[in-house]
Amino acid sequence: MSKEFDVVVIGSGPAGYVAAIRCAQLGFNTACVEQWRAPDDQPVYGGTCLNVGCIPSKALLDTSHKFHEMRHRFADHGIEAGQGAIDVAAMMARKNKVVGQLTQGVAGLFRGNKVTGISGKGRLLGPGRVEVGQPNGEKEEIGAAHVILASGSEPIAIPPTPVDDAFIVDSTGALEFDSVPQKLGVIGAGVIGLELGSVWSRLGSEVTVLEALDDFLPALDRQTAREALKIFTRQGLDIKLGARVEGSRVNKRRKHPVVVSYQDAQDKEKGGKEASFDKLIVAVGRRPVSAGLADPAAGLAIDGRGFVEVDAFCATNLPNVYAVGDLVRGPMLAHKGMEEGVMVAERLAGKKTQVNYALVPSVIYTHPEVAWAGKNEDELKQEGIECATGVFSFAASGRALAAHDTDGMVKLVVEKATDRIAGCQVIGASAADLLQQIVIAMEFGASAEDIALTMFPHPALSEVVHESALAARGHAIHKVNRKR
Ligand code: FAD
Ligand code: NAD
Repeated sequence: MSKEFDVVVIGSGPAGYVAAIRCAQLGFNTACVEQWRAPDDQPVYGGTCLNVGCIPSKALLDTSHKFHEMRHRFADHGIEAGQGAIDVAAMMARKNKVVGQLTQGVAGLFRGNKVTGISGKGRLLGPGRVEVGQPNGEKEEIGAAHVILASGSEPIAIPPTPVDDAFIVDSTGALEFDSVPQKLGVIGAGVIGLELGSVWSRLGSEVTVLEALDDFLPALDRQTAREALKIFTRQGLDIKLGARVEGSRVNKRRKHPVVVSYQDAQDKEKGGKEASFDKLIVAVGRRPVSAGLADPAAGLAIDGRGFVEVDAFCATNLPNVYAVGDLVRGPMLAHKGMEEGVMVAERLAGKKTQVNYALVPSVIYTHPEVAWAGKNEDELKQEGIECATGVFSFAASGRALAAHDTDGMVKLVVEKATDRIAGCQVIGASAADLLQQIVIAMEFGASAEDIALTMFPHPALSEVVHESALAARGHAIHKVNRKR
């Protein structure tokens, strides 16, 4: 074997690159194999998240939010900006620059921490043995005392709407439109559908979202989901629930070339329906990239949905082989993968690090953002646990009013018997950061009283968190409390 390492990581998305950096920090001679490459054949690090996921989508969300504010909100502040115009090419160039800065940043962190980057397709041959393949067919075997698999995920395709990268695109294509589609269809009212649907809606597209389920955002409790649906609908997203897509065709001669046929469960009598769009985004979930990742002779256990099977510490069925991130069970979120990467590295170094899977925050980066963690009211009720809830609206926050950003609410869920916080859901400006205050509190086992007795700066958006804890105890100050 030409090269030997203490640790070889396959994949440099957030799970893989964080694992590699932490391993190197802990003194392991570490390599990271990445197949994504730049035109000059150098590996491009950062995976889905940095290249075609979290970061570019947030860059477009921020640009489109500013544009929408200018068109629809500036006048309320007395700012005369007129209608303005969006230069889509300039918006994309800024997005690409942000992506480049961050992917180069990971390359710099690898150099600084002495992680060896290897360009190529990694394949597990067995414990301690990784093959690196090149597009020209060349193969090299490298040795590793420990292997961490972090090959991530890819968009799921559905037969009725095959992606052609011209008219029908997945999330990657939706980050690359060269103009604002007049009519945009989105399949799936999940995180990607709502975020990317919002981007193009704010820039002027008429957006229709076709969602197969009857329930909107099933991870939320029904009160919060209803509030979110109300806000998104008011913003102009036409979200059709219970819409099962059956087929599509592209006719370039039509004004709106993509024709989608679907069953509308909410309007059964009328039978099948059709809708026409300029572009269609398919955002129906992602699946793990596990095909071809290991030589079948290695015997790596992979479940029926393609996830590499791991225990609570991300150990696979093979000795000294671990798997992290979207490749394994749990939510497909960058921060969940990063924490798993850290956990595996630290456990290799003999530490007892764990991931608290009960407390993975989720955020939809629309405006307002939607963020949640822990258990919601409906879940606690199903488990027969008596709970109190504290709801406080952004409309009653002085800071939110001053910022002209009053949509949303905080809903804190508290176990009645112990006053311990069980979960929190936030819709509102900066919901991700506000939720994080509760996540930290929950990590410390805080009660609603702990939050209630904490001093919050005034006027700050975080006062809505404070008031939700007061409300859970029946004595919010800036709203009239319901009698209990
Ligand atoms: P990935 O990021 O998918 O990285 C895997 C890497 O492995 C890739 O670089 C791939 O090229 C490489 N690879 C695969 N196979 C091999 C092989 N055999 N050899 C060598 N290299 C290989 N999550 C959030 O938490 N917040 C967000 O705001 C967010 N926004 C998103 C927006 C979009 C549009 C999308 C698509 C996803 C978003 N996600 C977000 C999800 C997030 O991107 C993923 O959860 C995260 O990237 C998973 O990290 P990972 O390291 O497991 O895998
Ligand atoms: P998702 O699971 O969030 O949503 C997919 C939606 O599509 C679901 O509501 C599902 O019911 C619906 N659906 C499935 N099949 C359908 C069909 N045939 N017709 C109509 N609707 C259908 O998946 P996503 O939005 O594609 O995102 C993929 C992953 O990426 C998620 O796991 C998410 O965690 C991650 N992601 C996270 C963020 C974030 O954290 N802000 C942003 C983007 C993506």
